[in-house]
Amino acid sequence: MTTGDTPAPDSTGDVAQDAVATAQSHGLELIRFLYADHGGIIRGKSTATGFLAPRIASGIGHTVAMMAMSMLDTLQPVQGMGPVGEIRIKPDPTTLVALPYAPGAGAMLADQVMADGAPWGGCARTFLKDAVGALAAEGYALTAAFEPEFTLGRREPDPDDGPDRLVPIDDSLCYSATGFHQAHDYVMDVVQALNAQDLRVEHYYPELGHGQQEISIRHAPALRAADNHVLYRETVRGVAFRRGLWASLAPKPIADQAGNGAHLHASLTNVAADGSPGGTLVFADPNDQYGLSETGYRFIGGLLAHLPGLVALTCGTVNSYRRLQPQFWSSAYTVYGMDNREAAVRICSPLRGDPSSSVNLEFKPSDSSANPYLALGGFIHAGLDGVRRGLSPGAAVNVDPATLSDAEREAVGARRLPETLSDALDALEADKLLMDALGPLRSAAYLAVKRAEAATFASTDAAFECFQHFIRF
Ligand code: GLU
Ligand code: MG
Repeated sequence: MTTGDTPAPDSTGDVAQDAVATAQSHGLELIRFLYADHGGIIRGKSTATGFLAPRIASGIGHTVAMMAMSMLDTLQPVQGMGPVGEIRIKPDPTTLVALPYAPGAGAMLADQVMADGAPWGGCARTFLKDAVGALAAEGYALTAAFEPEFTLGRREPDPDDGPDRLVPIDDSLCYSATGFHQAHDYVMDVVQALNAQDLRVEHYYPELGHGQQEISIRHAPALRAADNHVLYRETVRGVAFRRGLWASLAPKPIADQAGNGAHLHASLTNVAADGSPGGTLVFADPNDQYGLSETGYRFIGGLLAHLPGLVALTCGTVNSYRRLQPQFWSSAYTVYGMDNREAAVRICSPLRGDPSSSVNLEFKPSDSSANPYLALGGFIHAGLDGVRRGLSPGAAVNVDPATLSDAEREAVGARRLPETLSDALDALEADKLLMDALGPLRSAAYLAVKRAEAATFASTDAAFECFQHFIRF
């Protein structure tokens, strides 16, 4: 091989060529360029494979207005996101996957950029990239995984002429062997589809709620973890549609059933020279009573300090707050604890013999109706603020905070999380760190979209709210 005129193996050109070759070898006809919007909806446009190479270079044209669209497709008045103006949906060529549940189609995760390729202040994926960059500037990298739950059922008309209902496929018990039987064929399709996209399934079990499933995947560097969550959401829905089923990752698709979380597991390492997570587990300290380092405590301190505003990003819909109730294992108070499943931040005990599972933090007020890039980016900014300012999280709370008296809760600093999306948005608006990190365009659009959703559902009942969320998430 000659040098000089040969592109470096990691150059964009080579990666793009690899993507085209992969698309051709899988016989893909259409490649979806996917992004997540401020309503938490996954949207995109697709290109025919014959035009993939030029569209990787240019992106596909798109109106600026789509990031002002709510989850109900109502366009909000946001300056800079009106009928005039173009951006590009520009895919990351390293993310190409063939979609096992959509034969002939592939997908790539995309940024939204200006027509000249410069970053656009309304792009959520860029927000996460910037957060990863801020971490790297301090010498850290974050490894993460969303741990989603979802409800498998059928969409059926309401016998009383109300909105369609999600009727679960089973009434099996939590972790029950019967639950394994009843969802088996569907789950096998999902597991194979996730693995084929390199999402690396770790565990599966039927969860507490009727029809509720939990399939966890391996952790990955932060950006990849958010990309994975988009692909995951697409996969559980896509596989269900092909089987005549309906899968919903909505936080509370059925009002009187268990909610669907997407707990965020995260750990910090040093950052390697190429920007990837290094081998030093920054959260680990074997001499600490919970195995957590000083940096880990500070990171929790930052999460707790920003929690009321942060949940506006991690629990992004009206329906999210139907899930965040005391004693539902979703967390409802601003506390952390060791293996405490009612705490907003749980220090997870490591698995023996699996050092890479060592001390990670599980952030429970997180669900799949959030935009995963905004959620994870906000999480990083909040934790990093705690590290920078040396914020103490106080003492661990190793009891269910709902069982404490008001005075006891006050003594341990356990405040109730926002009980509505509107309250969370107020807290976000008052959180200077998160607002500054979002920047003027993104924060204005997010607040406008989410305030509109809150206003719409304020005058509707639970059946309508659950319907609107289970059909979209
Ligand atoms: N379904 C619970 C939630 O809404 C989580 C249950 C668990 O896995 O601990 O977060
Ligand atoms: Mg679970």
